[in-house]
Amino acid sequence: MGGGPAGLYFALLAKLGDPQHDITVFERSVHGPPRGLGVVFWGDLLKKLYQADPVSARQIEEAARPWDNQVVDLDGTKVLSAVSRSYGIKRQRLLDILSRRALDAGVHIEYGHDIATPSQLPEVDLIVACDGLNSRIRNQTEGLAADISVGSNKYIWLATDKVFESFTWPFVHTDSGWIWGNAYAVDNESSTFVVECPAETWKGLGFDAIPAQDCLPLLEKVFEHQLDGHQIFGQTPGQPPDETNIQWLNFRRLTNEHWYAGRTVLAGDAAHTTHFSIGSGTTLAIGDAIALADNMRRHADLKTALAAYEKERKAAILQAQIAARCSMQWFENVDRYVGLKPRQFSTVLRRRRSPLLPHLPPQLYYRLWLYPTSHELPAMRHMRKWIAPRIVKVYNRLTRS
Ligand SMILES: Cc1cc2nc3c(=O)[nH]c(=O)nc-3n(C[C@H](O)[C@H](O)[C@H](O)COP(=O)(O)OP(=O)(O)OC[C@H]3O[C@@H](n4cnc5c(N)ncnc54)[C@H](O)[C@@H]3O)c2cc1C
Repeated sequence: MGGGPAGLYFALLAKLGDPQHDITVFERSVHGPPRGLGVVFWGDLLKKLYQADPVSARQIEEAARPWDNQVVDLDGTKVLSAVSRSYGIKRQRLLDILSRRALDAGVHIEYGHDIATPSQLPEVDLIVACDGLNSRIRNQTEGLAADISVGSNKYIWLATDKVFESFTWPFVHTDSGWIWGNAYAVDNESSTFVVECPAETWKGLGFDAIPAQDCLPLLEKVFEHQLDGHQIFGQTPGQPPDETNIQWLNFRRLTNEHWYAGRTVLAGDAAHTTHFSIGSGTTLAIGDAIALADNMRRHADLKTALAAYEKERKAAILQAQIAARCSMQWFENVDRYVGLKPRQFSTVLRRRRSPLLPHLPPQLYYRLWLYPTSHELPAMRHMRKWIAPRIVKVYNRLTRS
């Protein structure tokens, strides 16, 4: 269920693993899913893709656009820093590669099938629910115990015809408060542009009172210095500027106590979400697909395979879930950090996954951990030693909750 990265990649790997499997992907959209212009990923994903299926891995690497640095623009002051090699790829391109490869391997893909209830599906041995955050299959399957919490910031997933060569974080101060984005090129013509702000800023700028499409010119004005006269579009340029293409949302963080019940198993966003500011949802969805196909290959009994899959993936994604929670919290408290000097701000932004950061004054955190000479000064070393066990305590509390 669902022709996103999780559904397509699982279908492909399961079919490659055992050509006797009869696999059909049901996808509600007609021409492939339109959600989101592009996503980022890192070399670790490419490595996994090459191990699982070198053919599609090569195509994905060729279609992706790499970058090696990021720019933090704090209200006009830009700080450039080197980062480990990262990639942006058009989501549609990624899905085209996966669907083409799955079809060639013998998977059936039924586009235009909006499945409202599991009873609409044919009699099958296994339903893999990859139908995203709002998974209907999950919502109608008893015993999975989903838990959703809603973030306080507003965000909108957009695109622009400006090609951002570096991963760029523009932060802009307005009369209604701070608003920021993240932007990166996905090909030679366009970039993803995600905008986020606190609800008060969103209301103050009047976004609550206008139709979604009318916010585009307003956002072009807010980010005029970063856009250099370029335009902003809905998340999929060329689609009508309606609510499905341009939509302000609050991030929803999903966890499930159980990932399978009976003959239904969850994968990708249907099983878990991580805040978009760490750019990992697609990587985790593909990781689920790899692990599920692998466990099905290794265990003849389905229940044993599903139990092993759940155990393996829950452990594998824990770090990312903690990092995502810290990152989301960082962006919900941007006011705490904007008083730092631009270079300090940029450094602290990169350390936003630290569970300790919310518990220390940002200046102190910067001086103790990030100040260029902090590691050479005995007093700093002593202070860090005192704080370290407390970090572990915070970390343990987060991993248990
Ligand atoms: C603003 C934003 C930015 C992001 N940026 C990144 C990033 O940079 N890097 C990254 O790795 N991740 C990113 N993500 C997360 C990423 O998009 C998701 O984690 C990823 O798409 C999950 O893949 P999936 O296959 O599980 O679900 P989805 O991609 O959501 O796919 C689910 C599919 O199921 C289909 N479907 C749903 N309901 C039905 C139904 N009833 N019947 C039939 N089909 C159905 C949908 O049409 C869709 O095609 C971002 C998310 C957001 C919100």
